[in-house]
Amino acid sequence: MNRPALYRAKVDNKAPSTAKVTRLQLSYVDPSEMHFEPGKFVNLKCPNGKYRAYSIASDYKNTKALELLIETGHNGLGSNYVRSLKLQDEVEIIGPSGKFFLRDLLPMHLVFFATGTGIAPFYAMFHKLIDLKYVGKVEVYFGNRTKELIIEPQLLDYFSNQLADFTVIHYLSQEVDVPITEPNVKAGRVTQALDECDDFSAQYYICGHPDMVDYVSNFLSQKGIPQDQIIVEGFTHSQS
Ligand SMILES: Cc1cc2nc3c(=O)[nH]c(=O)nc-3n(C[C@H](O)[C@H](O)[C@H](O)COP(=O)(O)OP(=O)(O)OC[C@H]3O[C@@H](n4cnc5c(N)ncnc54)[C@H](O)[C@@H]3O)c2cc1C
Repeated sequence: MNRPALYRAKVDNKAPSTAKVTRLQLSYVDPSEMHFEPGKFVNLKCPNGKYRAYSIASDYKNTKALELLIETGHNGLGSNYVRSLKLQDEVEIIGPSGKFFLRDLLPMHLVFFATGTGIAPFYAMFHKLIDLKYVGKVEVYFGNRTKELIIEPQLLDYFSNQLADFTVIHYLSQEVDVPITEPNVKAGRVTQALDECDDFSAQYYICGHPDMVDYVSNFLSQKGIPQDQIIVEGFTHSQS
């Protein structure tokens, strides 16, 4: 287990992933390498000595650089700071942190619930599932407001091609009146997928908006899914 440490890192790449999310690639300067378990996050030092937590979205095998998917469509400390960063700028991060990671014993059915940038730690975890040659069923329920706000859909295609049984169902909460023709796209909230969750042997990983995380985990608990099979990360907003 790697303990969190302070890293200086530099901005190698910065590009819009959607209209509201920036993909930020940082390479480590000092120390020059970081090992992390997929699912972990780093704290990015923002102005006024304040920090914002961002989950690592990239492949854990790359120990020289990491990628973050950061909400930058609003007026916030982290959002504004990341928008202001330029290539080669140096930043400070502390990590890897958190208790959100794939459990050691994986059953033959994994279910992932995400909203928005909540998909970031799952992208890192899916790289590990590929390396583990995981052959069980992987279901991803991914909620966004509109189709245009789905983060890095091409990566989902990649995971679908690499993993034996990988399905993504998209839930679009603000396209309720728009005709949807793709079989894996539904109108409404991602919590609608709960009707289909009745496997008591599956592991459930839930990440994103804290209200969604609470709702889904409470619902699964009440259904009788054992607590140790419900693994959560709520993207709670910082109080400062
Ligand atoms: C463990 C953990 C992992 C996280 N991982 C990620 C991640 O991978 N990517 C990521 O983007 N965030 C992630 N977050 C959330 C992140 O740390 C920030 O809290 C969030 O991005 C808002 O920070 P900010 O500084 O931009 O806004 P703040 O300065 O904290 O907030 C300013 C105002 O903006 C509002 N606001 C905040 N977010 C939004 C939004 N998305 N849309 C509209 N208004 C908003 C706030 O309610 C507040 O009124 C994570 C949080 C935790 C706890």
